[in-house]
Amino acid sequence: MASITLKDVSKVYPGSGGARAVEKFSLEIADREFVVIVGPSGCGKSTTFRMIAGLEEISEGSVYIGDTLVNNVPPKDRNIAMVFQSYALYPHMSVYKNMAFAMKMRRVKKQQIDIRVRETAALLGISHLLARKPRALSGGESQRVALGRAMVRNPEVFLLDEPLSNLDAKLRADMRAEIVKLHKKLETTFIYVTHDQTEAMTMGDRIVLMNGGHIMQVDSPKNIYDHPVNTFVAGFIGSPRMNFADCAVEERDGELFARLGENGEHLISLGGVNAERGELRALVGKKATFGIRPEHLSAVSEAAPPGEGFSGGTADIIEALGAETNIYVDLPDGLRFIVREFNDKPVFRGQVINLRVMPDKIHIFDAETGDAITGRRRAAENTEPAAQTDNIEDEIAAGVAEALAAGADDNNDNGGDGL
Ligand code: ADP
Repeated sequence: MASITLKDVSKVYPGSGGARAVEKFSLEIADREFVVIVGPSGCGKSTTFRMIAGLEEISEGSVYIGDTLVNNVPPKDRNIAMVFQSYALYPHMSVYKNMAFAMKMRRVKKQQIDIRVRETAALLGISHLLARKPRALSGGESQRVALGRAMVRNPEVFLLDEPLSNLDAKLRADMRAEIVKLHKKLETTFIYVTHDQTEAMTMGDRIVLMNGGHIMQVDSPKNIYDHPVNTFVAGFIGSPRMNFADCAVEERDGELFARLGENGEHLISLGGVNAERGELRALVGKKATFGIRPEHLSAVSEAAPPGEGFSGGTADIIEALGAETNIYVDLPDGLRFIVREFNDKPVFRGQVINLRVMPDKIHIFDAETGDAITGRRRAAENTEPAAQTDNIEDEIAAGVAEALAAGADDNNDNGGDGL
C-alpha cells in the first residue's frame, strides 16, 4: 500500500522540438485511492502513466511512491503492477504458468508460488482456467488472467492503462464493476488511464481530466459533472454532451439574463444560477457561453414561460435508446439543442417542441477563457486526495455546512525481471 505524489512533473520527448507532452502535473494520490486519468487522445495520459511506472524518463519534477523519490528507481524496484490494453499473455504457457512466471523469475519457492497463484485465481474466479492455454480463453477471461498475473506479487500500486479497450461493450461494463470490486478487496492504490468518460465516471474516487498535457480538473465524478471548471471539462464529461451557445449577459431591473440566438431572440433568466452575482455581473457586456446538459432540459407541449425556456423548436433527429430518448431540436434563431427525455412519450420528426430549462442547472462560461463562472471550482484547489471514507453522511453534512455558509503489456508485471 502506498500513496503517490507528483510534483510539477513535465515531459519533453527528445526530438519533439521542445513540445511539452505533459506540463507541470501535480497531484497527491492517497494510499488505497482509485484515481482515473482521463482525456482525449494525445492529452498526455499515457506519458504520465509511464512516468509513474518508470517506463519513461521524467524531464522535470518529482514522483514519490510513499516517501521515496522514485525518479531514478527502475520499474522493477517500484513495487507496482501494470496492466495494459494488449495483455499479451505468453501463448505457449498455461494460465497457471503465465501467473507464476514473474515469481519464478524471482526465484520464489514453488510452494509459495502455488499458494499465491491459487489464491489469486480464486479471487478472480479463474481457478477453473488454470490449466488452459491463452488461445482457449475468451477476451474477458484473458483480461482476468492479465489482472491475475499483475496481482500475484502483491504490489503496492496498480497501474492500469486502457485495460478494457479490447473488450466488447457488455464485457467492458462487467469488467468495470469487477475492477472496482477488486480495488475494494485488495485495498491497494489504483491509477487507471482511459479515454472513456464512462469508465472515469463509474470507477474513480477521483477523476483527473487532462487536455493538451495539462490537468484541467481534479475532482470527484459528481463534482466534475456538476461543477466543470471550463467548457472543455463540461463538454468532455456527459453524454450526449452539454449544449453550448454564445450568449450575452444582460441586466434588467437588477435581474440577470442570458440572451441567446443569432439575433438575440431568446432570453433566459439567470436568477436560479449557482454563481456569485458579482462574477456574473462582471460578464455584462462581454461575450459568454451558455451551457445546459440535455438532461436538464425538458420537452414541453406548451410554450415555456418567458425567461424559462426556448419555444417554437422542431424535433429533427430522434434517438430512442429504450430507457431514454435524445431529441435534437432545431430552435428559432439558429440554435440547436439536444434534450434527453426519460419518459416514453412518442416523438416524431418535425414535431413542435418547446424546451424548459432547469434554472439551477445552467452553466455560464467566460467565452474568452472558457472558464466557468457558475459553481466555479479551481483545479488547483482540488488536488488534495479524496478522503478515504465511505461515509456519505459526512459528505452531506459538509455540503449542508457549505450551503449554510454561502447563505443560501502486455501486462508486464513491472517490466523487469526478464519479462
Ligand atoms: P495519450 O495517452 O493521452 O493519448 P500520450 O501521452 O501518448 O497521450 O501523448 C502525449 C503527447 O506526446 C502527444 O502529443 C504525442 O504525440 C506525444 N508523444 C507520445 N509519445 C511520444 C514519443 N515517444 N516521442 C515523441 N512524442 C511523443
